[in-house]
Amino acid sequence: MKMPKLQVFCMVLLACCALPFVAAAFNTGDAVNAVETPLKAAAESVMTNPNNVIAGSDVSLIWKYVDYLWTNDRQLEAKKYIESGLALAPFNYLYQAKLALILAKQDSNAAAIDRARIVYEKSEDPEPVKLVLNILGKKDVAPFKPIEKIDFASPTVVLVAIGKVDRILLKELQQKITDYLGLEVVVFSELSNPPEADRSLFTSEINKMRSSILALPDVGAYLRTKKINVSQLKVDNELFVQTLTQFLEQNNSTAAEDFKKNMALAKTRAQQWKYDTLRDYLIEMAKPFRNKNWLLVGITEYDLYIENTNFVFAGTNPHAQAIISYKRFTGDFNNEPQNRKRLVSRLFKQFLSVFGLLNGMVRCSFPECARVFPKTLAEHDEKPEYLCNECRQTLEKLLKISIRTPTRR
Ligand SMILES: [Zn+2]
Repeated sequence: MKMPKLQVFCMVLLACCALPFVAAAFNTGDAVNAVETPLKAAAESVMTNPNNVIAGSDVSLIWKYVDYLWTNDRQLEAKKYIESGLALAPFNYLYQAKLALILAKQDSNAAAIDRARIVYEKSEDPEPVKLVLNILGKKDVAPFKPIEKIDFASPTVVLVAIGKVDRILLKELQQKITDYLGLEVVVFSELSNPPEADRSLFTSEINKMRSSILALPDVGAYLRTKKINVSQLKVDNELFVQTLTQFLEQNNSTAAEDFKKNMALAKTRAQQWKYDTLRDYLIEMAKPFRNKNWLLVGITEYDLYIENTNFVFAGTNPHAQAIISYKRFTGDFNNEPQNRKRLVSRLFKQFLSVFGLLNGMVRCSFPECARVFPKTLAEHDEKPEYLCNECRQTLEKLLKISIRTPTRR
């Protein structure tokens, strides 16, 4: 077919004009697509998976795409992906917070506040809580003052944050202690960097399995094909975990996922601090400032142990100081949904227990008392948030205070 000359000319012109734009779009678009297309496809494959159980474990693929959209300032586009993700993992408060932000942006204020409130009440991580503060018209807890000299005239509880401690949690603990014991409670931040961990479970777990795994013929063959240096795997724990995960992924993706999860868990449980190490650090730090009325209690998220134990919730030296760790009270540590109210309650009971010892009291044996010794977290949860009559009266005499009589559960 013959085309009229003018028309051909116009088409050439159009093509020439359009070409630079097409080329530009092609260049950036191509780069973006190379990143975005697989992320989007992976997220959508999880969303269209009819099996909720499988999809639940793959929900991180949705979050990856949401994070991508979020960092590229495409929050509104992220909404439907966040909603799908939360349908599979509703207790993820970080993405609940992000959904609240989108809803607020879309002027769905009541819905935004509903989500924000749940995040504010439940999250045990400061980050999601910070995201929703504006929606709720709340302010962040100000950083605590560094430890300083105060000559308290009467017994005063001095809490010192050791390491990174959630400020809201500490503030809520402070309030609970004041309300119940009627004592003044001061919170300080530490002055310097805390000591390094004394032991690591991650390292010891890997050391236990490494030689037998590297001796497996299948693993050996895999390493040879991939040209991976075995001697490096013997010294580099991260590389060992990464390589073994890749090996497992070839044959059994569930096993790979489990292994990765367990190792990540071992890492969170990995580091432990000896009570004595943190105690000496706390004593040294408080030495220039304290007087006899300081009831000194360190609060930390570091996992604690003492000689010949796997862990302890706390350590105390009567009439001197105590340190409480809330690591093992967190939802993440126990594979439970987060719940800050529960976390504060666990921490408060531990405080009451330790506080009695700090003031020289003997262990209590009455189960309806925060001061009985729990062997497990379940037993700790079973204790009430108050002292039995005997402990209460003893503490009242020791500190010359009047403790609120609790409403029984
Ligand atoms: Zn008691």
